[in-house]
Amino acid sequence: LFITLEGGDGSGKSTQARLLAEWLGEQGRTVLRTREPGGTVVGVEIREIVLHHTGEVSPRAEALLYAADRAQHIATAVRPALARGDVVVQDRYLDSSVAYQGAGRVLGASEIRELSLWAAEGLLPELTILLDLDETVARGRLDAANKRFDRLEAEKDDFHGRVRAAFLDLARAEPDRFLVVDAARPVDEIAAAIRARVAPLL
Ligand code: C5P
Repeated sequence: LFITLEGGDGSGKSTQARLLAEWLGEQGRTVLRTREPGGTVVGVEIREIVLHHTGEVSPRAEALLYAADRAQHIATAVRPALARGDVVVQDRYLDSSVAYQGAGRVLGASEIRELSLWAAEGLLPELTILLDLDETVARGRLDAANKRFDRLEAEKDDFHGRVRAAFLDLARAEPDRFLVVDAARPVDEIAAAIRARVAPLL
């Protein structure tokens, strides 16, 4: 079972990934909790390049770096875990690329989706949880936690508005794969909604 969490910066993906992984463990499942970018040794180095040279890396180079991270991660970590019968709970996957590189960097949704699917040899998750959050709320959260405010601030031209709209478009296009959650709700309510959606898949 392959589950991904998607959403903008500050939407609470890593908190919900942790809570879901803990609950799956209590259900007796072996869980790989992982993330992109940076889910492998090679990926950690790619993550350094893309996140520390934002503005220097050209949009197409950025898209290819995320795709390289994904190819390595899926081939060496995710597929082996799925083959063992483990549940994979992953923070960000190809929908992030479609939203950030496709819509945010305006490279085109279908091209970026094709690139991602090529990198991942066509692997799609059974379930994708979209934590949908208004940018202003996200900004406040990240500011309060003193995290990544600089990156949100650095992006102009309604970058984050385009990213959010792209995530919602993806969810509308594939309603069976997506669970959309209002990420402004309390953490435990969101976790309960996610567990309710996951339980029948176990
Ligand atoms: O969620 P996480 O903190 O790992 O994301 C790191 C950063 O990478 C985020 O600020 C996000 O905006 C960016 N990102 C991106 N394109 C992706 C995945 C992440 O721009 N495909």
